[in-house]
Amino acid sequence: MRTKVFEKMGYDTERFVGYVNEGLLCSICRDVLEEALQAPCEHAFCTSCIHGWLVHHNNCPEDRQALDLTVLRPLYRSEMIYRVEEAKHEMESRLDSQRRHMVQKESLLQNEIEELKTLMATERQHRQELEQAELEKRELLELMKGLQKDCRLTRDGSKKATNFRPLTRLESLKRKPREVTVI
Ligand SMILES: [Zn+2]
Ligand SMILES: [Zn+2]
Repeated sequence: MRTKVFEKMGYDTERFVGYVNEGLLCSICRDVLEEALQAPCEHAFCTSCIHGWLVHHNNCPEDRQALDLTVLRPLYRSEMIYRVEEAKHEMESRLDSQRRHMVQKESLLQNEIEELKTLMATERQHRQELEQAELEKRELLELMKGLQKDCRLTRDGSKKATNFRPLTRLESLKRKPREVTVI
């Protein structure tokens, strides 16, 4: 619909491609176009800017295509308005894609956070298991030390307390599997 309107008005939409971002700015002074003149390469400049440039050059300051005063034509207000609309449209679609990109990124981040949470939970569990294992190892070592002392005492015969010795944890641990196999 939009294209049709401009076709009716004699505008070729193709002609404006590449303008969209800077279409309203003079590529020499980088300010908003003043008494705009357009080159065949589609670049536009303020009248005074391009006149000044062409005193010492014979090309377009933007793309270096051959250029002289005779091929410059005024950029009309209606075209300027068209450029504004194009720029607006471009900006909107760019914002839109940016928004989509952000939403996508957000969900990706959310996933990463979930993964990290799971990893952290697993890590915590591993640490707890490790601590538990360390504790059990120390306990077993203590038991073994105790047993060694008991053995030495028995060997020395200095004390006969071994018979009344309560069941140590190690012994109960050793005994358990045997009971299981019997049953
Ligand atoms: Zn140019
Ligand atoms: Zn200018």
